Amino acid sequence: MSARKNLLLLPGDGIGPEVMREVKRVIDWLDRRRGISFEIEEDLVGGASIEARGTPLSARTLDLARAADAILFGAVGGPAWDHLGFANRPEIAILTLRRELGLFANLRPAIVYDPLVSSSTLKPDIVRGLDMMIVRESTGGIYFGEPRGVETLPDGQKRGFNTEVYTTYEIERVGRVAFDLARKRKSRVASVEKSNVMESGLLWRQVITALRDAEYPDVALTHVLADNCAMQMVRNPLQYDVIVTTNLFGDLLSDLASMLTGSLGMLPSATLGEVREDGKRHALYEPIHGSAPDIAGRGVANPLAQILSFALLLRYSFAMEGVAAEIEAAVVRALRNGLRTADIMAPGAARVGTGVMGEAVLRELEKSLP
Ligand code: NAD
Repeated sequence: MSARKNLLLLPGDGIGPEVMREVKRVIDWLDRRRGISFEIEEDLVGGASIEARGTPLSARTLDLARAADAILFGAVGGPAWDHLGFANRPEIAILTLRRELGLFANLRPAIVYDPLVSSSTLKPDIVRGLDMMIVRESTGGIYFGEPRGVETLPDGQKRGFNTEVYTTYEIERVGRVAFDLARKRKSRVASVEKSNVMESGLLWRQVITALRDAEYPDVALTHVLADNCAMQMVRNPLQYDVIVTTNLFGDLLSDLASMLTGSLGMLPSATLGEVREDGKRHALYEPIHGSAPDIAGRGVANPLAQILSFALLLRYSFAMEGVAAEIEAAVVRALRNGLRTADIMAPGAARVGTGVMGEAVLRELEKSLP
């Protein structure tokens, strides 16, 4: 069996293949210049897979995903497939991958890179130096809980209902992801729920507290009610290191956090599964942006979120912290040199397209060689 790490690339639709191309150049550079190589598979997903195979995620692709050490995903979807029913749309591919691979912990870093501090809608003094990680539980809670549905009442009114539900096991496993991450950062976790009005929130708080006391006594833990957390994130986001929260609150708070940085084209994410007996875990890495059909095919998309997603992959799936940090530093230096894609354009900067931005990162990587 090959000892090489097996990487599955799923570029998808719209700008997905355009930004993935720039990651492939980074992968190629690592191979040529650093002697770091991977076993690479690439396959269709989303709309591209619908066109070629009649399904957004074929059995073959799912098999490749199961076998991969890590998956780098681009983006899926677009107007060509918007008329399809929900169950057949390109976006189903990502939901199916999450479900089939048991990807329960969604990691969304919100980092304000110094050269982009003025991209935020908040004042520079509030966001400068921001480096927060939101860990969102992503396979449980109210989006999946039963009972759910819409029923008709005797008086003819309708009643819609969903159920927030978490077990000790689900809370502990996402809690461990957050505490483990915190140990590699500033050793601070804020656990977010609504224990003042929800029993499931109270259980969440109790389980997280017990987990910290039993396994992570070195990590500082605070509890924050979700509404207060949203307010604090805008008031003083620098107070947070790692936030761990439920599916619903994480959905809202991670979008809020991403806008603190002001640049969608810069934000990577990771979704992790459980650590298996062989020590490996399924993991999927993707930019948080979608397929951007409005700019697809024009060569203007920002490739940095995809490149930074690859850096996260190296860090969390392959424990290659050094190389991950070098790629991140190369991205910051490319920005510091004044290059900007249209989405992060600033007065006085040079506007460049996808390929030139990718090349700028490669150039900075090259400079970092001894
Ligand atoms: P989007 O993220 O694709 O685009 C929102 C806006 O941001 C657009 O104006 C777009 O041009 C811009 N933008 C996004 N990424 C950019 C980048 N890298 N560089 C420069 N500009 C960028 O969101 P949307 O428009 O709501 O959705 C478009 C399609 O993407 C839909 O079909 C949606 O379902 C899909 N989508 C997929 C995913 C995914 O694959 N995980 C996530 C979100 C949306």
